[in-house]
Amino acid sequence: MNSLDQFAAAKLAELDAAHLRRRLAPSTREDGVHIMRNGRRLISFSCNDYLNLTHHPAVKAAAIAAINLYGAGSGGSRLVTGNHPLLVVLEERLARIKGMRAACVFGSGYLANTGIVPALAGAKDLLLIDELAHACLFAGTQLSPAKTMVFRHNDVAHAEEILAASRKTYRHVLLLTDGVFSMDGDRAPLDALSALCAAYDVWLMSDDAHGLGVIGGGRGSVAASGDPPVPLQMGTLSKAIGGYGGYLCASAGVIDLMKTRARTVIYSTGLPPASAGAAIAALKIIESEPELTAKPLAKAQAFCAALGLPEPQSPIVPVIVGAPEAALEASQKLAEAGFLVTAIRPPTVPAGTARLRFAFTAGHADEDVARLAQALRDIVKL
Ligand SMILES: *Cc1c(COP(=O)(O)O)cnc(C)c1O
Repeated sequence: MNSLDQFAAAKLAELDAAHLRRRLAPSTREDGVHIMRNGRRLISFSCNDYLNLTHHPAVKAAAIAAINLYGAGSGGSRLVTGNHPLLVVLEERLARIKGMRAACVFGSGYLANTGIVPALAGAKDLLLIDELAHACLFAGTQLSPAKTMVFRHNDVAHAEEILAASRKTYRHVLLLTDGVFSMDGDRAPLDALSALCAAYDVWLMSDDAHGLGVIGGGRGSVAASGDPPVPLQMGTLSKAIGGYGGYLCASAGVIDLMKTRARTVIYSTGLPPASAGAAIAALKIIESEPELTAKPLAKAQAFCAALGLPEPQSPIVPVIVGAPEAALEASQKLAEAGFLVTAIRPPTVPAGTARLRFAFTAGHADEDVARLAQALRDIVKL
């Protein structure tokens, strides 16, 4: 074996031994709720498709119409030839639903975070980030020459301690947090963080990947926190919106800066017309059907009430089992009972906190949620 294949084989063997190897499973989603895996039809509690809009007739029709009008791809970077008319419409809609002046669409949420952070923070600056923030916010910090410091999860007092000690050392400070934490489902204290950032002249950026469409009347985590000032509101089009793409909502000046300086805008192809068209249709549904946006959280609440779990703050409910092999085994048993609930293992979550992560969607039947709770009760000790 050559050294490259030796390297790969040794890495894989190491991961296998620790129950941390991951494999891609062929998955055919039939609608917003059901999925075919290994010849079996399962009810999925692992999709981020909170409003089941991936399969909504109006969303699919909008994607097809966009392809017919503008083609399958955007043909280039937005700054060259890829800025098709649907991107402008989509940005107006995103800014409106977030109550912000302007928006910039990126190729994905990951590309948004890795573009925004280094465009705002340079060598003389500080990045202050929640320890459980999403991997792509951390990736953004690695692409910036700014100093990075981590504060304990949702611990505003710890963030303040760091700022009191070191704010003066830095030119600008950017504080990064998820609005809804993707693996725990809890929400950031955005009102308290906003006040802290105002007191120390810090720029607050929230990642609302799991908030838009499902909390705050569908407007997301800032709205759910009472609309405190959050000047940088980032998110994805791939979860409740049901498609693909990422965005930042901010002031007109900040958005103009992104469009001329964010490397993931400049050096990556513009979002395809189909994704933009689908997202516009999805946002129309979210704006006009508030009762739909309330459903995923209501399902999570029913599940937690049935099991005596703490009241959920979002449609994401973690059940921590500890060891990766225990999480895999519980996931396997739920699959045997007809439910897809993926095991989440390190390094996605901290060592010792492997878990089942349940994501509830509007289309889950109440009786299936009740059956899931019963099945889980039989499998893990809560
Ligand atoms: C999923 C997710 C992202 C990445 O978004 P994509 O559009 O899937 O790249 C970013 N942040 C958080 C918190 C997420 O959960």
